[in-house]
Amino acid sequence: MESFQYITPFIYLLLVVIWSYILYFYLRKIYKRSGVDKLLLTLLIVLAVDAFRTLFESVFFGVWYTSLSGLIPISIYNFLAQPQIVFFPKIINLLVSFIILAILIKRWIPAETSRQNEQSEMIRHRTKELQKTIDHLNSTKNDLLEQQQLFEIMLNTIPDGVVIADTKRKIILANNGMKSTFGYLPEELIGNTTEMLYADSEKYIDTGSKFYTEKSKGTDNLYLTKYKTKDGLVFPGETFGKKLHNSDGTWKGNLGIMRNVSERIEFIKEINNQRDKAQEADRLKSAFLSNMSHEIRTPMNGIVGFTSLIQKPDLSDEKRQKYLGLIQKSSVRMLSTVNNIIEISKIETGHIEITSNYVRISEQLEYLYNFFKPEVENSNMELILKNELSQDDDFIETDELKLNSILTNLIKNAIKYSHEGFITISCRKEKLDLIFSIQDSGIGIEESRREAIFDRFVQADIEDRGAYEGSGLGLSIAKSYVEMLGGKIWVESEPGKGSTFSFSIEWKQATRRIDSKKEKSEPVLTDESNSINILVAEDDHVSFLLIENILEDTKYKILRAENGKQTLEVFMSGAKIDVILMDLKMPVMDGFEATKLIRELDKDIPIIAQSAYAFAGDRKKAMECGCTDFIAKPLDQKKLIFIINSYVHA
Ligand code: ADP
Repeated sequence: MESFQYITPFIYLLLVVIWSYILYFYLRKIYKRSGVDKLLLTLLIVLAVDAFRTLFESVFFGVWYTSLSGLIPISIYNFLAQPQIVFFPKIINLLVSFIILAILIKRWIPAETSRQNEQSEMIRHRTKELQKTIDHLNSTKNDLLEQQQLFEIMLNTIPDGVVIADTKRKIILANNGMKSTFGYLPEELIGNTTEMLYADSEKYIDTGSKFYTEKSKGTDNLYLTKYKTKDGLVFPGETFGKKLHNSDGTWKGNLGIMRNVSERIEFIKEINNQRDKAQEADRLKSAFLSNMSHEIRTPMNGIVGFTSLIQKPDLSDEKRQKYLGLIQKSSVRMLSTVNNIIEISKIETGHIEITSNYVRISEQLEYLYNFFKPEVENSNMELILKNELSQDDDFIETDELKLNSILTNLIKNAIKYSHEGFITISCRKEKLDLIFSIQDSGIGIEESRREAIFDRFVQADIEDRGAYEGSGLGLSIAKSYVEMLGGKIWVESEPGKGSTFSFSIEWKQATRRIDSKKEKSEPVLTDESNSINILVAEDDHVSFLLIENILEDTKYKILRAENGKQTLEVFMSGAKIDVILMDLKMPVMDGFEATKLIRELDKDIPIIAQSAYAFAGDRKKAMECGCTDFIAKPLDQKKLIFIINSYVHA
């Protein structure tokens, strides 16, 4: 009996624990239900618990209360209140609660576990998916970073300026190309408006080219405009502009790609210039060709025509002389044309070099004066020489041949285009220049043609070309030569009254004094030259015959050698030789070689080179080999005698 006193309370305790658990279990279940269910079930449980408690307790209270009222003896209550009696219902209760617990454990725990498993599986799955999403986001972020880097590299590699501006033209992005194009660093631009980049408040240049659009039209446009660098330099620029829009279509700003096109514009200008020049050259060349054809055919016509006429047996002496004169005149004219063509080709191909030598201007002018005097006087005009140079200024360093050619050209023109009056050759010094002028009282030149006549193939009056013969090359050759000598050429003229052609050359005083050439103004055709021997080195028979005939009346004695070797042999034979006339191109040994060898033996003997080479720069080469002077073929009778005289008459 004793033991029940302890067992029963213990069972109570156990019951409280088990039922508490069962209660907790249900409450948890209920907790997961939705609002109304939750409340309903909770109330039901509270009711069930209370009903259960009331059921058991009411037995005892009922018995106790009834025994108190005397309806039943107290002993029943005492009996029932004995721990061993209380024990039985409690043990039954305990059993029931165990059974419920067991059922719960069997039914609900696995469900709970599987639910929990499911949940954790779901969580794992969700976590996995989340991880995947995070990975995807990370890789997208890396891709984006990479693309951004690529974009920045591209943006900054573009040599042109690139800017993005908002709707108020405020710059929000600029690339490094803005530095090379405008001189601004990107950070100097951001926040400023694009107006600072334009000169002339964004005036675009309307080129009229379809390539460029009008700035205000369309969403994309390409236009030429005037830009301004950070330093304020204005330059032509090409802009490609694009309007940028938000996803909802509203305008959000502009993208501008800005390029410096000054080089391209220069290039286009240059090309247009070249094209114009080429077209002009083409036009002039056609004019030249027809002029040349005229200039060659006309004298050829004279030569061929009079050569056949001269062969008539019954021709009077007078007529023969006249025809011969005409043939000679035609030949000279043709020669001058050919020379001019050769000269201009040399200039065009850059084959002309400056060969400086010491020149005594007074001697040059006198030479020309004497040379042209007879021709001028034959045309019933007067040739005047006005040399205003002092003795000190007279001796200069320049290219003698070119100076001579310029003067000759101008004097010939003065003679050609004048019919009466005078021709004056003058020279003066102005500062560090020598100014030469050839004045004539001829036909003059219209104002409109005064510049053009210095161009190649141009004559003052193309329409009236037939009136005066000429190729239209003389003045352009003279101009090129003058420029090579460091000067310029110009003309003053009055139509009908005359012209004055003047040119300057650099006055460069000769540093060394040499003996001037001993020239005679007139060809010597007298007995004085009796004892003078000329050694003519010439392989070509016709050329030799020509020299022989030219010198026939001079009584110079002629010795002939047919090549350089023979020339050397004759020279070494001990014969008295005063001048050697050396052809440069000969078989066995050429004139250059022969001259060199002769110079080793005799430093003083005058050796005059004669050559028909047009391009080889043989004058210079001949002088380097030791020749004293040079005369070009075809030989001019007067010139040849003139040169020989200048060396043999002390
Ligand atoms: P051309 O062989 O035709 O004389 P040039 O080049 O020497 O060629 O001269 C060009 C043109 O200039 C000539 O055709 C002529 O119309 C004009 N001209 C040159 N010199 C004179 C001058 N002294 N007086 C008048 N016109 C001249």
